[in-house]
Amino acid sequence: MSSPQISFEFFPPKTAEGAEKLYITRARLALLKPKFMSVTFGAGGSTQKGTFDTVLEIAGEGFDAVPHLSCIGASKQSLRGILTQYRIHGIRHIVALRGDLPSGMKEVGELRYACELVKFVRAEHGDWFHIEVAAYPEYHPQARSARADIENFAHKVKAGANSAITQYFYNADAYFRFVDDVCKLGVDVPIMPGIMPITNYMQLMRFSEMCGAEVPKWIARRLEGFGDDRDAIKAFGLDIVTAMCERLVMNGAPGLHFYTLNNAADCKSICERLHL
Ligand code: FAD
Repeated sequence: MSSPQISFEFFPPKTAEGAEKLYITRARLALLKPKFMSVTFGAGGSTQKGTFDTVLEIAGEGFDAVPHLSCIGASKQSLRGILTQYRIHGIRHIVALRGDLPSGMKEVGELRYACELVKFVRAEHGDWFHIEVAAYPEYHPQARSARADIENFAHKVKAGANSAITQYFYNADAYFRFVDDVCKLGVDVPIMPGIMPITNYMQLMRFSEMCGAEVPKWIARRLEGFGDDRDAIKAFGLDIVTAMCERLVMNGAPGLHFYTLNNAADCKSICERLHL
């Protein structure tokens, strides 16, 4: 198996203990020599400082540190300020997103879709930033139709994105089909599958409900059957996610982007099983 690019995603910690835990997680995952490490951003700016501080810490450790940035609820002025700060600190790689309007927030902001944010970043900063965007092999839950979502994704790439990271999925066929479909629309940027290790049944079902990712029925039933047996859930999750990653890489996925949830163990086990 050729060696695919791997990358890890973290969320900004809220407490000193969380920061310490993330530091240890990063140190463990650093041994796998990731291409980059990204840090999520709370839409509406709720984690702006946390994201910024974590990104600078990662950059200080010598990694390609990649902030996520969402435009929903934001003014161009505030986005300009954030991008300028990143540029001043030598950050050259971002994940550009629309985000979801936090409950209670009414103003959509000046940019309505991620493609508008991509255009804005290109207009303000030329080629300074490598821009990643989000992709949805099982389609975004708010898309008018699967076709419309594929076309919107293609517009987003044509607006200036360099590569994409997918929402997580447990059905590799959805990924391959999506890549084929967007390729027919002239999209040839790398599309990295997003990988979510399975460690907790209830949490997985809750996340998947929110983001529109499908947990195939046979997987859900097996996980449900393990009840509170966390070791059994982990062992089963590790088996099926590793098998899916293997199939993705063997069939041409350019890399794997892990949603770590700030934990190293499962991502590390999957990479070790794949001999990455
Ligand atoms: P868009 O690409 O703008 O698409 C949103 C919806 O609008 C889709 O249904 C699309 O089909 C539709 N659409 C797009 N353009 C048009 C148009 N011109 N006309 C009509 N409809 C259109 N959320 C966070 O809050 N913080 C994060 O850090 C974060 N990181 C993420 C990382 C990855 C890799 C992924 C996959 C998701 C992430 N998200 C994050 C979640 C993301 O913000 C949500 O899924 C959000 O609902 C959509 O963001 P987007 O950038 O994909 O939006």
